[in-house]
Amino acid sequence: MSEYDFDLFVIGAGSGGVRASRMAATAGMRVAVAEDRYMGGTCVNVGCVPKKLFVYASAFSEDFEDSVGFGWQPGKPSFDWATLRDNNAVEIGRLNGIYRNLLANSGVQTFDARARLTGPHTVAVGDQQFSAERILVATGSWPFVPEIPGREYAITSNEIFSLQSFPQRILVVGGGYIAVEFAGIFAGLGAETHLSYRRELFLRGFDREIREFARGEIGKKGVCLHFNHQVTSIEKQDDGSLLVHSGDGAPLNVDAVLFATGRRPNTAELGLGELGVVMHRDGTISVDDNFCTNVRSVYALGDVTGEPQLTPVALAEAMALVKHFQTGETAEIDYNNIPTAVFCQPNIGTVGLSEEEARDSGLQVTIFKSEFRPMRHTVSGRDERTLMKLVVDSSTDRVLGAHMVGPDAGEIIQGIAVALKAGATKATFDQTIGIHPTAAEEFVTMRTPST
Ligand code: FAD
Repeated sequence: MSEYDFDLFVIGAGSGGVRASRMAATAGMRVAVAEDRYMGGTCVNVGCVPKKLFVYASAFSEDFEDSVGFGWQPGKPSFDWATLRDNNAVEIGRLNGIYRNLLANSGVQTFDARARLTGPHTVAVGDQQFSAERILVATGSWPFVPEIPGREYAITSNEIFSLQSFPQRILVVGGGYIAVEFAGIFAGLGAETHLSYRRELFLRGFDREIREFARGEIGKKGVCLHFNHQVTSIEKQDDGSLLVHSGDGAPLNVDAVLFATGRRPNTAELGLGELGVVMHRDGTISVDDNFCTNVRSVYALGDVTGEPQLTPVALAEAMALVKHFQTGETAEIDYNNIPTAVFCQPNIGTVGLSEEEARDSGLQVTIFKSEFRPMRHTVSGRDERTLMKLVVDSSTDRVLGAHMVGPDAGEIIQGIAVALKAGATKATFDQTIGIHPTAAEEFVTMRTPST
């Protein structure tokens, strides 16, 4: 018999924690998981899933308009926020139940409570203490709102999906993918939408040309873009609306201010400091290749360990960790060529190196580009364009990066990511026969370098 209550105690039942718990239990380990908020974590409850459902909701407004050119006469559609909010809540509730059952069916013991490390092998859950051979911290991250006067009037992605009433005017603050997505959602749902970002252009880290192209397309959707714009304070008005002051320009009067200005790791009151667990300056937990902290029985993965903060990354880390527990082999995760999407309208999809990253690393690159009007809009009449771009290593012909702004970019880039992972060259792309008529076929028909 083991001297411990559990072989593995997981703190946090989010993307990484649930996957690690289930896999470890299936592999025969005695596993417990503590979750103090919601089964499935950020992604299921206040992240990817509700976000994507709201993106679907927001796209209908254009669909109704576009259908007219195809002969439909849809009348004047109206949008009901409460229906979307409540149907979303029902779906999230369904998913919570699925996660709970998955854990139970795998033999994982679940505690609906906050957990804290009290020693290298001990965890406190409420007034109970448990011992575990290994402890996994998978506590995720939390939205960060800067210390400005009136910050208490701001909301974050944690609250936005369950607002009592629809904000007719909204200011989204931030320049990352979450901010850009929410701006698209609210513009599509019919709100007067402003996006404020303190630098000159949003989506830092993405290919420059893609960012600029996206700025144009998102602007066409009616999002009012304020760059080099710093929100300095928020004032509540007698009528309940919010007056947002910035370094320059007239104040903005809106009904909601959504801060999407980054996320901080969930490490407060976890007992990590007392245990001497080493953390980086930004508060993320420092781990080695096997997700092990400097305290050898304590592991961490997912958002709490820093970038890239994406669900599939947390899942991959969880699977690699459990494999490491089983085999003792070093966990192998390749953080290169992680595809990602921004679910704005139109979508952005990207994998591999941006043109700037490739050039900055000293590579000679050839760029292939295609910019066109999506077929649907030849008849709908909508002024929307698509951009596709390949970054190719001039000396080896390898495709280093693929980028797209256009409908379904996320879906399209997922397939291209497999090709990049397999080391596809531009010649391989050229030899691939397209599917006609699709937008995706452009990726295999670009023949003339643009530079
Ligand atoms: P989480 O999923 O955050 O899980 C951590 C869990 O730990 C939480 O449930 C928390 O309640 C619990 N917890 C914390 N402290 C304790 C404690 N002391 N005791 C017990 N439980 C505790 N990623 C994508 O890949 N695609 C997307 O489209 C996408 N969209 C997003 C949209 C938004 C608005 C946000 C906010 C995030 C989005 N993400 C997306 C990111 C994704 O949600 C995260 O990367 C992912 O959830 C990280 O998983 P995790 O397991 O590290 O943490």
